[in-house]
Amino acid sequence: MQNDFCPDGALAVPHGDDVVPIVNRLCNAFRNVVLTQDWHPAGHSSFASAHPGRAPYDTIAMPYGPQVLWPDHCVQNTSGAAFHSGLQIPHAGLVVRKGLNPAIDSYSALYENDRTTPTGLTGYLRERGIKRLFLAGLALDFCVRYSAEDAVREGFAVVVIEDACRGIDVKGSVAATRSSLAALGVTRFTAGELIGGNP
Ligand SMILES: [Zn+2]
Repeated sequence: MQNDFCPDGALAVPHGDDVVPIVNRLCNAFRNVVLTQDWHPAGHSSFASAHPGRAPYDTIAMPYGPQVLWPDHCVQNTSGAAFHSGLQIPHAGLVVRKGLNPAIDSYSALYENDRTTPTGLTGYLRERGIKRLFLAGLALDFCVRYSAEDAVREGFAVVVIEDACRGIDVKGSVAATRSSLAALGVTRFTAGELIGGNP
């Protein structure tokens, strides 16, 4: 939940900030909360500006597979990389910063986009005996999707709280996300189903 992914941000997810109060309410119902933070060096290889002749949302071939190119976003120590000011989760125990390697993007909270370089989050979760993950945030069809897929692969039970997510929808990526997650047995809940009330 970072400024650059919210309206007026560099890589705004439509209505991204709508989920801030839902995410706050959800997180208050959990003892173990992990936040993720896109944290790119300037000139990161996922930025279209690093590839002459390319435009944001083009897809290119990287050594680790296809990569969507993005507007410059979430550059380290910028206000765009900061968490949305409405986010109220003081008890979050860990912030996973990702996308630090200039040569590899990292959508997932668990692995970089080569799907083999770990962020360390799996070890953190395992050492704490956590077996089931509930995912929320931005964007549904990239960071949430990849995190869910990797978490299933690591043997966690995974729930995506879909009304606490918003998608970017590049070339049908929201529909692709829904079918991928369904095929992997990822459960979908709404925030209301999980914690009651009217989110
Ligand atoms: Zn990024």
